[in-house]
Amino acid sequence: NRGFVSVSSKELHAHLNGSISNHLLEHIKANSENLNESGNEAFLPVDCSGVLMNVNNHSVEAANVCNGKQSDTRRSLKECWSAFAKIHEVITTPRALYVATVNVIAEFSKENVIYLELRTGPKKVHNIPSKLSYVESVVKGITDAQKRFPILLKLLISIDRKKGEKDAFETVELAATVAAKYPEIVVGIDVSGDPQYGNSIWIVNVMKEARRRGFKISCHLPEIVNPDEAIAFLEFAPERLGHGQFLHPMYGGTAELWELAKQKRIPVEACISSNVASGMAVSVEDHIVKILHQESLPYIICTDDSGVFGTTLSNEYRKLLSVVQLNFQQIQNLCLDAVAYSFATEGEKEYLNKIIQTWWLEAD
Ligand code: 5GP
Repeated sequence: NRGFVSVSSKELHAHLNGSISNHLLEHIKANSENLNESGNEAFLPVDCSGVLMNVNNHSVEAANVCNGKQSDTRRSLKECWSAFAKIHEVITTPRALYVATVNVIAEFSKENVIYLELRTGPKKVHNIPSKLSYVESVVKGITDAQKRFPILLKLLISIDRKKGEKDAFETVELAATVAAKYPEIVVGIDVSGDPQYGNSIWIVNVMKEARRRGFKISCHLPEIVNPDEAIAFLEFAPERLGHGQFLHPMYGGTAELWELAKQKRIPVEACISSNVASGMAVSVEDHIVKILHQESLPYIICTDDSGVFGTTLSNEYRKLLSVVQLNFQQIQNLCLDAVAYSFATEGEKEYLNKIIQTWWLEAD
């Protein structure tokens, strides 16, 4: 039941460009010359076609998860990266980025998401003159969407590990500049990008610098088996971890890593569709979230890249419920946990908790 689950949802792990649906991407591509300043072309109907479905000439019919008919077509990690490249080729002007931001937020809001943390890596590409102007366009989209939709918004600035140490430190510097101007919006740093690049030592040093600057941190655990790196990240203890499929020895982790995960209890952003589609998890049944739940370890249900993988937050909850038995109270607790692990202020958390509790009282 879509409304049941989504009405009080919080999304804490959503990459901006990865959240652009096929429909939105095609709209922006077709109208690249005349995306006017009014913003009226924003707010397209919710459409969950996955961009990934069209990568490498796969003409798989667009998955329509809104009707619960998601195609679980699997792709390699490499194909997933080509989907991002395909989107980046289209989002090449500040206006396109603005329109994308507002529409992505509109789509989450239409699904009754009341709190959204978007994350994105600043890019100087084509007609986007600087990384600063990239972030400014996203913040403008967030500010305008905040006025139009009942949704509280935050932004995490992403470090792309593939771009190396120098770029990563510059990204933290840029994030600090923007956060000084928009402290209520720019609250965190995300570490993501292709896990085959980068080195855990400098990534930990960058996270230390980000923390010194006052940022909350969400760090992707590697999407390839790499227990040493995962241990280094857990020892640093970011506020949240992305994915975490390979934490457990059953899926490639070591006993030492799993013990550390149990000891640290860092909330894991669980992205079921994404991890299954990219082959990290063999199936929903084999997703780490089941073990996290059984062991009472903290986790949050997230979409990761709803546009690329053709999913929605409700769909992710549905997948969780297909492998884990939860009663009403436990689902409500999951919603409240997500608020607790969010990067919202204490006052905002109180406000979100009240909305959730009121909704569940009325639904009961
Ligand atoms: P953007 O930062 O351009 O808004 O969002 C897309 C980018 O986020 C991708 O190019 C990639 O660097 C990062 N990203 C999206 N999903 C994932 C993921 O599941 N794992 C990792 N490591 N990075 C991701």
